[in-house]
Amino acid sequence: AALLDTFTASNPASRECFDTHARFLPGANSRSVLFYAPFPLTMARGEGAVLWDVDGHRYDDFIAEYTAGVYGHSAPEIRQAVMEAMEGGINLTGHNLREGRLAQLICERFPQVERVRFTNSGTEANLMAITAALRFTGRKRIVVFSGGYHGGVLGFGAQPSPTTVPFDFLVLPYNDAQSLGAAFAREGSEIAAVLVEPMLGASGCIPALPGFLQALRTETEKAGALLIVDEVMTSRLAPHGLAALHGIRPDLTTLGKYIGGGMPFGAFGGRQDIMALFDPRSGPLAHSGTFNNNVVTMAAGHAGLTRLFTPEAAGALAARGTALRERLNARCAQAGVALQFTGVGSVMNAHFADGEILRPEDLEAVDARLRRLFFFHLLARGIYASPRGFIVLSLPLDDEAIARMEDAVEDFLAVHAR
Ligand code: PLP
Repeated sequence: AALLDTFTASNPASRECFDTHARFLPGANSRSVLFYAPFPLTMARGEGAVLWDVDGHRYDDFIAEYTAGVYGHSAPEIRQAVMEAMEGGINLTGHNLREGRLAQLICERFPQVERVRFTNSGTEANLMAITAALRFTGRKRIVVFSGGYHGGVLGFGAQPSPTTVPFDFLVLPYNDAQSLGAAFAREGSEIAAVLVEPMLGASGCIPALPGFLQALRTETEKAGALLIVDEVMTSRLAPHGLAALHGIRPDLTTLGKYIGGGMPFGAFGGRQDIMALFDPRSGPLAHSGTFNNNVVTMAAGHAGLTRLFTPEAAGALAARGTALRERLNARCAQAGVALQFTGVGSVMNAHFADGEILRPEDLEAVDARLRRLFFFHLLARGIYASPRGFIVLSLPLDDEAIARMEDAVEDFLAVHAR
């Protein structure tokens, strides 16, 4: 209660923004994930890995736009690419050189992606990949996993997306090869595709067990179904994406977030014979979108992948994240507190639970009040992590900021968690 009182008292401008904007936007914004009670902070400005809110407070940015912000807020290479693109005209109502260049880069970086198409969001990328699978196989059913999140209309967690997408979904438990085997034995010939995150992101950074991904590959192949790996969040977690790290070659892959250099972005791609469905010379499927090849995204994405987030940089950032997670977990264990940090590489989530976390159901008993306390404690220390305990590293986040975060966790363990 004291933390909340301080929060309310010290953020009058954010409060006013919230009250005013709520007259025009339900909940005062366009992204449900950004809301928390009593009112969320309104951000005014960002630079590198630092944010300032409208009341003038400074925060180390440990959300980094839910992984899309790997470059931080002001990378000169991205700005320059955007400016150059705009000087040549905003969008050109035609094929443009930049989309070809970015497509080539993506195909070279993610070897399972033989052909790629761009969208404006990860949500659209997943919808198009599903569409391709339905058409390619002539089947109707899509297997997804409980807690899976594939976009605003494709959520399978405790709070389902409001839209009922007109597909025939079968929702199975995550990391459970046995249930998967049973489902395929029962109805394998009706399954068009399995759509899976190689680490459940929105449901708390729960990594897939290697054996689970392997089982997905084997079962889909046996049944003539497609494996779609949603790497919208995870492609940054290893030099060539998380599926490649596991030695898995999906039929289709969806991408998004940072790959557009911080601009609106999504992509889907994979086997040449499947993607040929979208070839207007021969294929039956149309795929449109006014801004799919917009020059700003195409330019920013190319600059980001070639000049900043190279495969080597991806590996290095992942290693920093892994080291941080191990240090945090060691501190929690030492303090004897039921707090753990799960995840892969530069993306992690704090959970007030002991014991192994294999699926979101393992978190049902967690006390949400502790999560909230942790969030407001970090905010009060100038650390901007997400209300659900999501913590993300970006390239400009320096060792001092990471040390401040670790100190804030240490204080939390000392003060609150006993
Ligand atoms: N898939 C995954 C795994 C995601 O994490 C997200 C976004 O958080 C999406 C899809 C949807 O992407 P977008 O928000 O760009 O529509």
